[in-house]
Amino acid sequence: MAERVCHGLILSQNLENAHTRTVMRAYPADADRWGLVIILRMRTIQADEVIYSKRKTISVTVFPGGKVVVRAPLHASPIAVECFLREKAEWIRSAQAKMQQAPARAQAHRFEEGELLWYLGAQYPLHLVDKVPGGLGFVKGKGFVLERAQKSRAEALLKTFYKRALRMRVEELVRFYCERDGFKPSAVRITSARTRWGSCSRANALNFSFRLALTPPACVEYVVVHELAHTREHNHSTRFWQIVAQTLPGYEQPRDWLKKHGAELPPIA
Ligand SMILES: [Zn+2]
Repeated sequence: MAERVCHGLILSQNLENAHTRTVMRAYPADADRWGLVIILRMRTIQADEVIYSKRKTISVTVFPGGKVVVRAPLHASPIAVECFLREKAEWIRSAQAKMQQAPARAQAHRFEEGELLWYLGAQYPLHLVDKVPGGLGFVKGKGFVLERAQKSRAEALLKTFYKRALRMRVEELVRFYCERDGFKPSAVRITSARTRWGSCSRANALNFSFRLALTPPACVEYVVVHELAHTREHNHSTRFWQIVAQTLPGYEQPRDWLKKHGAELPPIA
């Protein structure tokens, strides 16, 4: 058995798999009383960091990438932390698996010169300038321009820009598909929804999140067709997906783009 001696810390050796370990503990302070080494064989997880503070309970957080951070009361013993980790091992492992798959979340914008902003599936640099009609604009071949004095309002201006741009596209697409395929939505609205790209009410009113303006045009078209199809089928049945496929052949590609990249897009309040 390859052993390492490391006082006060977990000594471990992998056995059957990465999660089953022979754990030995050596606490110099307790050595006389308890014998030099307490040997435990257990399924355990090691924390990457243990933060002690004035708190009453032990908690564990799993961060993107799988890092495990434990927060514990100032006087929590290493064994208490260890027991806690053992108890939560299953949860930690599943959280780590999820976090390792999850794409790194995008940061909120800071509206600095040169920062990249999304628009219709591409990223464009932001330029801070002295004067822009309306405070913020988009110049083809150049990118976004923001009036320096409006920096504190930049997020609201960007949101208004996205809403306006998306409204034009969505209305054009809705008109096209209604004329061609006879859909009859009762209303079309652009909303600030954060968790869904679009929705269709019982009364066939369609809502589209302004965040769609960050995605490629094919994704905007797919979400429009998806919600229009809901005016005929208010569910995700086989019949529903048949309508989507007939209306927009090849819809799988933009649908998958949204699934894959949706979480990478920056949060915009
Ligand atoms: Zn749906």
